[in-house]
Amino acid sequence: MSQVAGCVFCAILRGELPSTEVLSTTRTYAFRDINPGAPTHVLVIPRQHITDAAAIEDDHGEVLAELFVTAQRVAEAEGLAERGYRLVFNVGQDSGNSVPHLHLHLLGGRVMAWPPG
Ligand code: 5GP
Ligand code: ZN
Repeated sequence: MSQVAGCVFCAILRGELPSTEVLSTTRTYAFRDINPGAPTHVLVIPRQHITDAAAIEDDHGEVLAELFVTAQRVAEAEGLAERGYRLVFNVGQDSGNSVPHLHLHLLGGRVMAWPPG
């Protein structure tokens, strides 16, 4: 599904790189972050390669809805739905974005500071 050569998350989707699956759906995949910033740190990605939140277009509605529903299901499965959690998209250099394949961070299991550093 429109994957990009050289993209680390597309390689994970193709099974060429290992990952720890949390949830898999038709249009999305959720897996544990390799360098967790909280007791639960899951990345939810579209199977379709979208570079980042700044590259979202009008016809991405369906995949984006599925991305958020997957995040809700992950939060439920991780026992976070009641206590709460944080959802983050980093965009661009100042945010620290490092992987150019759209990914929704789901962080939880500890109290979060605001604003983030
Ligand atoms: P960003 O900084 O781009 O918003 O987040 C990228 C995230 O991807 C980081 O939290 C980083 O730890 C994670 N990450 C980078 N490469 C890999 C990988 O190969 N496997 C997994 N599971 N996570 C990765
Ligand atoms: Zn990709």
